[in-house]
Amino acid sequence: MPELPEMEHYRSQLSQLLCGQKIIGVTVNREATINEPVDEFKSGLIDRSILFVERKGKHLLFHLDDGRRLHLHLMLGGWLAYGEQGPKKDSHFQVILAFDNGSSLYFGGLRLGYLHRITAKAAIEQLKELGPDPFDPRLTLEAFKKRLTSKKGKLKTTLTDQRFLAGIGNCYSDEICFDAKIHPALSSNELDDEQLERLYGSMRKVLMEAKEAGGYMEHPLTPDDKLTGGYNERCRVYDRKDEPCDDCGTEIKLETLTGRKMFFCPHCQPQS
Ligand SMILES: [Zn+2]
Repeated sequence: MPELPEMEHYRSQLSQLLCGQKIIGVTVNREATINEPVDEFKSGLIDRSILFVERKGKHLLFHLDDGRRLHLHLMLGGWLAYGEQGPKKDSHFQVILAFDNGSSLYFGGLRLGYLHRITAKAAIEQLKELGPDPFDPRLTLEAFKKRLTSKKGKLKTTLTDQRFLAGIGNCYSDEICFDAKIHPALSSNELDDEQLERLYGSMRKVLMEAKEAGGYMEHPLTPDDKLTGGYNERCRVYDRKDEPCDDCGTEIKLETLTGRKMFFCPHCQPQS
């Protein structure tokens, strides 16, 4: 599932491509992806312009010039493409928005994901449970420590809880714990000051590096996009079961923690 770096990478690219563009065509191939009858969705979007694109955690909000928002959550398997032609047949995409500059935005893989046209008030309501962004300036080291130590439960579970922090999922929680050399199944409220400090630094470092490297999505956004997916080969533990740890050579282990996969180095990240 795309996480903060992937969605932020989409946001920055889409901001440049879409701001000021007018929607002139809407194709809906899967009604369950949207939140209203197809005709209403289409007529609500035709002739609307996109003012800007905002990210909240793993969600994107396209701000429309009538005050409404298009709320996108890619969930598991969702991806985007943009250009004069889609990278696959049009029927492959759940929704396509055509713009007056001749290009279209293609929404793919939205089985669980969705694209909803909602009011500004509904957007606030729907996203009010989200915790702070990891880069929120109010999330100082002290605030982070206080938040984390007040949580019971395992570190990985806490980091991926969207009400605790918005934007971290399965991949980056493992990468952050590895960078901080902390076992992801330790209890959040038992970490000492030094570990908390390392974790805070690693959280920002890993997410920033991943964002700058284009995240781990497989599909490029445009035909010229060479950056998307650049972080894929830089993951140090995620999806690297049995491969040697970059730092010590020990085999990376995979375990499950309350149904989630958890990759870690048993040597660099001791459990006690
Ligand atoms: Zn190691």
